[in-house]
Amino acid sequence: MCITKLTTAYVFLLLVGVAILVVISIALNAATLGVINKRFDEIKNENGQTTSKTTVSAGPITTSTTRPPISFNLVDSIRIEDLMNHLNELQRIANNTGNTRAIGTRGFTETVNYIYNYLANNASGLKVFREPLSVQNFTIKGNPILISSINDMNKTYTYSTNLARSDFTYVNYSASIDLTKFNLIIVPNYGCDKLDWQNVAGRAALVVVGGTCTNAEKSELANIYNASALLYYNHGLTTTSLAPVIVRLRQANKLPALFLSYAIGQELVNAANLSNVSIWLDVQRENYSSFTIENVCADTIDGNINETIIVGGHSDSVPAGPGINDNGSGTAAILVLATNLARLYQSGNYTKYRYRVRFCWWAAEEIGLVGAIHHVQQAQSPFASSDCRLQDYLINLNYDMLGSPNYMLGIYNGSSAKPDTPSQAINGSIRITEVFRNWFNGKNLPWDYTDFSGRSDYGPFLAAGVVAGGLFSGADETKTSEQRTRYEEKLGQGQGGLVGAILDPCYHRACDTTDNINQLGYEKMVQAAAYMLEFLGQKDDLMTWLYPNGRPKPRLPDEYFPNSDYFRNIDI
Ligand SMILES: [Zn+2]
Repeated sequence: MCITKLTTAYVFLLLVGVAILVVISIALNAATLGVINKRFDEIKNENGQTTSKTTVSAGPITTSTTRPPISFNLVDSIRIEDLMNHLNELQRIANNTGNTRAIGTRGFTETVNYIYNYLANNASGLKVFREPLSVQNFTIKGNPILISSINDMNKTYTYSTNLARSDFTYVNYSASIDLTKFNLIIVPNYGCDKLDWQNVAGRAALVVVGGTCTNAEKSELANIYNASALLYYNHGLTTTSLAPVIVRLRQANKLPALFLSYAIGQELVNAANLSNVSIWLDVQRENYSSFTIENVCADTIDGNINETIIVGGHSDSVPAGPGINDNGSGTAAILVLATNLARLYQSGNYTKYRYRVRFCWWAAEEIGLVGAIHHVQQAQSPFASSDCRLQDYLINLNYDMLGSPNYMLGIYNGSSAKPDTPSQAINGSIRITEVFRNWFNGKNLPWDYTDFSGRSDYGPFLAAGVVAGGLFSGADETKTSEQRTRYEEKLGQGQGGLVGAILDPCYHRACDTTDNINQLGYEKMVQAAAYMLEFLGQKDDLMTWLYPNGRPKPRLPDEYFPNSDYFRNIDI
């Protein structure tokens, strides 16, 4: 079901709840930010500059008003003050709920309620709805068992919740298995290539973490090539990558899996090179319970629902921090776009688009694009409601991380879609890239191409054959000197950022706060997003422009596998 109605009583309770939270959090807010500021100042580059100096203030931030100035186009309605007001609210929520807005926490629930209530109260003319979905919990039951048998000598490995003292640990979304013996096979290289998995059928496959693929992608290959069990081990390249690490596979994983320390992994690799090695495994998980989370969407009432433009971004953070850049920045951007478009529509001075615009805030991106995948799967069901059909979606614009402190003005490169992307979606995606590029050039702004491999919520739309595009200001990529020079030339002295520093030093960390936003770059990115929406909205024949060679009915393949950064544990 695409549309869920909220009762008035529920709205009232939420409003009361939010009001109480606002009062409680005022005191906490100042203290917490002070600590984080101090911490941020400690991130220094070789010249002794701090990364926080790359954050350029766009003047004093007012908190009194969110109404845009009178303007008759969407780009001119974008003001950094409105964006920062939303980010301050998201920060306030996180401050009050354990410094995270991850799914399964109160911080996430309050984020969703904030989005819903803000739209309901400030964007009259939009139809707002929630889309519930359930997420499975994973809890290990008892202690998993790992025993090796090398030349008939058995060795039992140590399990401890203290990872530094443990030989191995469990893997989230491992399947259960009663004590069973398997022959061990070593997966060559990093296990990122199909060829690496040719001989794993019926065996326990041991693979080192790292390489160009994620742990979840390795488990996908292990599943495809019929391994019976999967053992990861740490790569040992640094002193912090010796112990086992708790990682997460996708919910649909069917294999029992464990994660071994570097030492145990290496011991088994060495033994397997000389003789046959077997391992015994036992993993038990609690009965699967689940909890409900929600996507939120808001539709323009005007516009042809059979030709819908989707503008989306994720609403959840990782457990490690408040996620103000990732993805408070996208969340706030879409809130401002939605609200300002609704106001322009109501002003009477703005030509309404021929197309419906659906703004969406996806849940659970950080555990593998779960909210967006759910939406796509629902929308392609033969039972999808008539106002929620995948075939009506012309394009998905995605905004995930727009305010990185050492930013780039990154454009998804439509030319670099994965080879298995449906060809119908390529032409339009390249055109979207060009429109962004032309806008940045026209404004004499620098820009960079960025990854378009499906690593955020546009992934399932693109894989289904829906044109996609978006912007990205950078995560753990490093700024090059060429980039800095180019940005300095366009933006002025001192605005090029820090060479050799990553674009968001607080990516997936506790310090991803409102101090982790470059307001200059952020505002430009949201203006570009506004331009794109208006450009598409004012096109006469968007369908033909996006799909010049026609458009088969989009469909997400059954074997679709999310490509998500979450699975690439940044500590290993
Ligand atoms: Zn993100």
